[in-house]
Amino acid sequence: MIYDLVVVRLGEVTIKGRNRSRFEGMMLARIRQALAAVEGLEYERTYGRIYIRLNGVRFEEVEEPLKDVFGIHSFSPAVRSGHDLEEVRAAALTLMNGLEPVPQTFKVTVRRAWKGYPHDSQEMNHLVGAHVLRNTPALKVDVHHPDAELKVDIQQEGVYLSCAVVPGAGGFPLGMNGKAMLLLSGGIDSPVAGWMAMRKGLEIEAVHFHSYPFTSQQATDKVITLTQRLAHYGGRIKLHLVPFTELQTRMVQSGHEHLIITLMRRTMLRIAQRLAERSGALAIVTGDSLGQVASQTLGSMNVIGRTIELPLLRPLVMMDKREIIRISERIGTYETSILPFEDCCTLFVPKSPATNPNLRIVEKVEAGIGAELEKLIEEAVQGTETMILTTEGRADRAAAAAASAEPSDEDRWF
Ligand code: ATP
Ligand code: MG
Repeated sequence: MIYDLVVVRLGEVTIKGRNRSRFEGMMLARIRQALAAVEGLEYERTYGRIYIRLNGVRFEEVEEPLKDVFGIHSFSPAVRSGHDLEEVRAAALTLMNGLEPVPQTFKVTVRRAWKGYPHDSQEMNHLVGAHVLRNTPALKVDVHHPDAELKVDIQQEGVYLSCAVVPGAGGFPLGMNGKAMLLLSGGIDSPVAGWMAMRKGLEIEAVHFHSYPFTSQQATDKVITLTQRLAHYGGRIKLHLVPFTELQTRMVQSGHEHLIITLMRRTMLRIAQRLAERSGALAIVTGDSLGQVASQTLGSMNVIGRTIELPLLRPLVMMDKREIIRISERIGTYETSILPFEDCCTLFVPKSPATNPNLRIVEKVEAGIGAELEKLIEEAVQGTETMILTTEGRADRAAAAAASAEPSDEDRWF
């Protein structure tokens, strides 16, 4: 079946009435970006929808990329006809006859958005349905559980007919809700947290702490691969690689073995907050999930979270590991996440990490390290290596400059 166009219905737009136009503008930009490799497409933006004219391109070519664009509620391959009844009927028949597998039952749903049309939706239902039935002897009507639903949408500029509805990823167009730093570890959870943040319209910059040479180059490469995969959903992503060896060593020397993870997490957040200030990010995203490990009990989250002032977003906090794994498989990060390279935290894991650390004691230990802590944090920030990644690999410096200027503040809501 050759379709004329794809009707794209936009996601959370309905709850954002006043900002609809900005939402639609950004959606159009994101969709164009996702389909940049497909030649011959034309785009049209209308109220709450975007039409993609296929101009001979097969629907299958745009279907997969569209599924990954945030902000799309659903989309349908469609044919377009003029207002003339016979033309609408002919289009309906062609569409129904082209369906695979061949439906046994169907129903027609007419929406008359343009009230100037001479037949109301009830009449049109019969006029189109009867024509299809007359010309397709094996087909029957089933209004409750039809194999196919023929949607007829009457607009002022023409009539759109479609049968299939493909669910979109939902959420907001990327970057619409501002920017956040993602603490990306290389495990299963944090890439999923990043994807969920991006789906909510947050542009992300990834921050990874490594303890080279205690952690290997492969461990860093793994995080680069994960960032590249996330870039599939966001075009390009900045990755900050923070040298953590000195800090980690110093914290181990403090002698409070069971508090090491708590201390390390607090230090990571402090550094991430500094990087956020430099980048104009307004939140930190982590892959914490309540109760998963010692550092993710409520007691630990409390002591760790108090370190910084920026909001700490934990998209996975109430999710089960199984649900998280399912998402990581779907978004294509799972295979990389399970590669067995050590993380900086696993290196120094104490035998019995605190599950309910005492804030006062933790603060005392930090005070004991004193000015040296601040100095080491500043050195880590200064020593951070930043790269810009796309799905293809590392973007060059010119591209890096362009990326930091985009999306502009104009494109965001704050
Ligand atoms: P993940 O699968 O994301 O590694 P996890 O279940 O292994 O999560 P932890 O290792 O306790 O959990 O880490 C909790 C969160 O802290 C991670 O989801 C991540 O956001 C952050 N984090 C941990 N280690 C690092 C690291 N080396 N670099 C950046 N962020 C980290
Ligand atoms: Mg981890």
